[in-house]
Amino acid sequence: MRPLILVANWKMNKTIREAIDYAHRLKELLSRYDGVEVILASPFTTLRSLDEVLRGSRISLAAQNIHWEDSGPYTGEISALQVREAGCRYVLIGHSERRQHFGEGYDQVNRKIHAAIRSQLYPVVCLGETQIEREAYRTLNILGEQISKGLAGIRPEGIDKLLIAYEPVWAIGTGQTVTPKQASETHQFIRQRLSDLFGPSTAAFVKVLYGGSITSENVSPFVAEPQVDGLLVGGASLDFEEFSEIVKCTALRRS
Ligand code: PEP
Repeated sequence: MRPLILVANWKMNKTIREAIDYAHRLKELLSRYDGVEVILASPFTTLRSLDEVLRGSRISLAAQNIHWEDSGPYTGEISALQVREAGCRYVLIGHSERRQHFGEGYDQVNRKIHAAIRSQLYPVVCLGETQIEREAYRTLNILGEQISKGLAGIRPEGIDKLLIAYEPVWAIGTGQTVTPKQASETHQFIRQRLSDLFGPSTAAFVKVLYGGSITSENVSPFVAEPQVDGLLVGGASLDFEEFSEIVKCTALRRS
């Protein structure tokens, strides 16, 4: 069985000191549990310090964003190469908070995925429908469009480095989730779409995660679904005790 992946998205939270303390505790916890890999999507300011703490562990770092160019006159932005140098192996792309608050559309998402792959970063591409789209029964159309437009021009050898996070927009930070069965069915649709576009052997490498209001209370049935390769956890990853329960429940699925 492939290990399950837990992405902890800290968003705009944690000082360097808080991040280091958490990382030490997480490293110790992970040394006692097999079957789980953790990716910390930590603020830019913490990356370099966390890279030193986490070296040699099963915990990797993700940037929460990158620019699509490799360098240039883009004040306030950061490149794929810069976050990779700071210790990142992964980068979140297309998170709905970036789509919503910073106006990121298909074109930017697509260019960022290209930039990540160019710099040998693994993109964690976030997809998901809004409440209105769901109520209009457009979920699968929207996901299909996000996949084909987001991944336009990516070659199969780039696709097998991808992680996809299915994150219904209405479920992020709201306490609402899809059912585990609905997550599984939607993941199956995502895999099928990837297979149609890039071929079944390439699509088989892509890991599909679920994200949206996961807590220690609801995690177990999600990780029991065979189509769920892992989870993206926002709010519940901020508190170490809560996240450690999520790690333990996930590891138990493997035993
Ligand atoms: C997220 O940030 O992508 C997320 C899923 O957040 P939350 O777990 O708080 O819903």
